Amino acid sequence: MKQHQILIVEDNQLNREILRTALEDEYIILEAEHGKEALDILKQHGENISLILLDVMMPVMDGYAFLDTIKAETEFSMIPVIVTTQGQSEEEELTALKHGATDFVPKPYRLQIIKHRMENLIKLRETAALANSFKYDRLTGLYSKEYFYTKVRECLDKNPEKGYAILCCNLENFKLYNDTFGRDSGDQLIIEEAKIFQNRVGEDAICGRYSADRFLALVEKEREKDGRQRFEQARKVTRSGLMENISVKLGIYEIVDRSISIEQMCDRAAWVMDTIKGIYNQHVAVYDDTLRNRLLREQEITDAMGQALSEKQFTVYFQPKYSFKDGCMVGAEALVRWIHPTWGFMSPGEFVPLFEKNGFVQQLDEYVWECVCEKLHEWKVKGYPQIPVSVNVSRTDIYQSHLVETFCNLTDKYDIDPALLHLEITESAYTESPDQIINMVKKLQGCGFVIEMDDFGSGYSSLNMLGRMSLDILKLDMAFVRNELEKPLDENLLQDVISMAHRIHLKVVAEGVETEEQAECLRAMGCDYAQGYFFAKPMSDVEFENQLG
Ligand code: C2E
Ligand code: MG
Ligand code: MG
Repeated sequence: MKQHQILIVEDNQLNREILRTALEDEYIILEAEHGKEALDILKQHGENISLILLDVMMPVMDGYAFLDTIKAETEFSMIPVIVTTQGQSEEEELTALKHGATDFVPKPYRLQIIKHRMENLIKLRETAALANSFKYDRLTGLYSKEYFYTKVRECLDKNPEKGYAILCCNLENFKLYNDTFGRDSGDQLIIEEAKIFQNRVGEDAICGRYSADRFLALVEKEREKDGRQRFEQARKVTRSGLMENISVKLGIYEIVDRSISIEQMCDRAAWVMDTIKGIYNQHVAVYDDTLRNRLLREQEITDAMGQALSEKQFTVYFQPKYSFKDGCMVGAEALVRWIHPTWGFMSPGEFVPLFEKNGFVQQLDEYVWECVCEKLHEWKVKGYPQIPVSVNVSRTDIYQSHLVETFCNLTDKYDIDPALLHLEITESAYTESPDQIINMVKKLQGCGFVIEMDDFGSGYSSLNMLGRMSLDILKLDMAFVRNELEKPLDENLLQDVISMAHRIHLKVVAEGVETEEQAECLRAMGCDYAQGYFFAKPMSDVEFENQLG
């Protein structure tokens, strides 16, 4: 089977015929009469040409000029070239080799020798190409991942006393870029980014491509600081015309433990890099054991959560809310607790943020809501005064189309007035997707539920926004209340927020009231309700029931 394409460059027609006849059984043959024509053919067939047989003396463009041109082009420089020289002139042979010829054969042709030389050269080049494709990433020219690991291992073994760090860098939103502008633009971006990366980490670094848009480097510890600085100062690539800012994230693992595999080291650098994904003002993160422990802990929690829910390890606590006007208890917030058989008592701060990330919070929330409704029913049956209880609604819950149905089913099932179920939705959810929230909230209010905006003042709160929202109650964030209360009265925003809320008929709850002074100030400002340790801490259902009775 003919597989290899070869190019014969020769002005003499008879010579071309001799070569063609001798070789055409084994090769696909392309022919050119001079260097210029040969270049055109190369441009068309490029890297599919396995070898060139080249005459030196030709019109238009001679063999040497042709050699010079192709050796300067990376695309063609790897193609082996056999020069056919006139007779046994040592000078001619030397010149050919100096111009980059791989080999030479004298005229008149000794065809068997030519055939063998060609075969050997083609084989040699293919083996080298194979080795290269293993070593180098085709697109960027950086080391392939596997070869990077090998080089890093070699370097570490050679320099046992030097300190090193692994850097991993990633383009944020690369998938979006690829999808928007096409694969070719994506490839172009990667090529450029690889160059920038190499520049930033410095000449001595060993660089490799980890995956699509992730690069790796091994740098000496002393140099790492410079690299890091360069990343912090010039953290974005600007693509004029296409995407404006593409954020680049850098993860650093300082090699402290050489006994782990290079793969693991790179994983750690990539790991820490991923922790700052989506955080717009942070571009560099350094791996340390705290992070490792945190990630391990998160994994443990993730592994345990399903069973915990089915074994009812989650319990609902209640924290009363009081009216500033008469000090009466006017409601409570349901707050989840995890009582794990070996880890003991856990606060939601330890697991809710993780559950929000992995989606489990939806299941947990539905469980909590059901517990609350069950209790409301029980207290109703026992004849206790009916006070509303608020539950937390996570931002991922809002995107569930059946959210309204879920709540209606619960109040039906436990025969309770929807007005007794208050729903706390955190402020940041409102700023993320206002339209979706507004729609959902309107539907919920239409069914009789009362909506509270939680954590007001913790994020990008805007007073203007409040008017547009359907809300019933505003819950001031604990840290916001505390900060504002520390300021002099004339700089304090609390009074304005409370007045504004009242103007649009919202009641205001202050969260995290811990001292009598805080309570006094808030009361003086006209705040309606208080929730905080000064009045009562979150308590078990049994304790809370005692408060009711
Ligand atoms: P949150 O909804 O803003 O709840 C108020 C948090 O402030 C509660 O913390 C409460 O115990 C605490 N707190 C109240 N008064 C004081 C005070 O005077 N001083 C101090 N230092 N803290 C006070 P907790 O119970 O640890 O809950 C933390 C967060 O976890 C909640 O913030 C809420 O975002 C989330 N969470 C709690 N339960 C649930 C739940 O069932 N579902 C969802 N999705 N999130 C929940
Ligand atoms: Mg809350
Ligand atoms: Mg809150």
